[in-house]
Amino acid sequence: MSFNSLGLSQALLKAISKKGYTTPSPIQQKAIPPILEGKDVLASAQTGTGKTAGFTLPLLHILSENPKEKYRPIRALILTPTRELAAQVYANVKEYSEFLNLRSAVIFGGVNQKPQVATIRQGIDVLVATPGRLLDLESQGLLSLKRVEIFVLDEADRMLDMGFLRDIERVIKMIPPRRQNLMFSATFSKDIKKLAHGILSHPVQVEAEPENTTVDAISQKVYRVAKGLKTGLIIKLISDGNWKQVLVFTRTKHGANKLCKKMVSSNISAAAIHGNKSQGARTKALAGFKNGSIRVLVATDIAARGLDIPLLPHVINFELPNISEDYVHRIGRTGRAGAKGEALSLVSADEITYLRGIEKLIDIKLPVEIIEGFEPDPNASTVPEKRQQRGGGNNKPRNHSGSRNSNADGQKSNNSRRPKRSNDRRNSDRRR
Ligand code: AMP
Repeated sequence: MSFNSLGLSQALLKAISKKGYTTPSPIQQKAIPPILEGKDVLASAQTGTGKTAGFTLPLLHILSENPKEKYRPIRALILTPTRELAAQVYANVKEYSEFLNLRSAVIFGGVNQKPQVATIRQGIDVLVATPGRLLDLESQGLLSLKRVEIFVLDEADRMLDMGFLRDIERVIKMIPPRRQNLMFSATFSKDIKKLAHGILSHPVQVEAEPENTTVDAISQKVYRVAKGLKTGLIIKLISDGNWKQVLVFTRTKHGANKLCKKMVSSNISAAAIHGNKSQGARTKALAGFKNGSIRVLVATDIAARGLDIPLLPHVINFELPNISEDYVHRIGRTGRAGAKGEALSLVSADEITYLRGIEKLIDIKLPVEIIEGFEPDPNASTVPEKRQQRGGGNNKPRNHSGSRNSNADGQKSNNSRRPKRSNDRRNSDRRR
């Protein structure tokens, strides 16, 4: 199948060919036709499947087909959970609309609102936003969503994980009831299905990958290792393999900082990306990682969500996530758009429970290797460490009532809008 046969305009085809895409990805083949027909779409797609173009291309097509007004009201709203994802989606919208007479803007927290407001004032057709800043500007009367025709909820599962359910509900009340809805999610829990039911009307369901399975192009491996030897092992793997671009996941912000320091002192250029870092520091770290000046990016789950790093060859789980679905999200950072990728996990005795949970979810028994000199400790306890248990360390997916705090990603938070959580949960969130 070619892009030509999907019914997209010449201006869009020109932009697609400028990007170098030749064939639509499976999610694009499945999602674009019903979206162009004006239908609501519920899509199951991981990051890396080309889902952004899957909704952006038909959305831009529809907007450009309809007559434009001199004063441009916001006609399409794309809601994303994180700033990084918002910035990436916006970059895609800009690229794909290069040859169209459409204007777009992106808004997210953590930066001055003035330039964002100034762009919106000039009139825009497409707005990409994170929930906090969107509600903030709306409540100040600085933008109106009354003319929205197309509403996109991107990475809906992560939205719920981050406690944005109430915010989504508030946004829905601000947009007209008659509209086209597109919802994308990597995983489909009961809560996601419930949310979809409340937002979408007779949706066409499309799927890029079977639910909760990992992409074939990713080779996965587990290194069993003693907890105290993990840092030495990861440095050895990166140095021996002479890996140039490695994304490493830790469970906590503190852990990310600590590991990053150790890397740097071993002459491996590294940067950490997590909720305690300023937007400027995060953007700089990501840019350095993309241009090759930083070899290792150490990230927590929430901060890494939505990072668009094409052809990322290596992902290492320095610690396994205590939520099995996060493993799928993490390793979805490699093996993208058909490229081969490798996902390695360093697993100590106290993480065996998490490993079993992950294997059950993806229905794969992961191959295990032990490196000489970095053997696991036969006397170590297999009980998950206390801190994780306290922070909700079971292996069940979170729902919005047991959500992670959106603060974990440094998003602007309004606690009165967030579900109430226990102190223990809050402490656990702060560590991410
Ligand atoms: P996404 O899942 O939207 O984050 O996209 C993952 C990556 O695939 C991005 O770097 C896109 O630029 C790229 N991409 C999207 N569609 C295609 C396509 N049809 N062919 C090749 N690459 C694509």
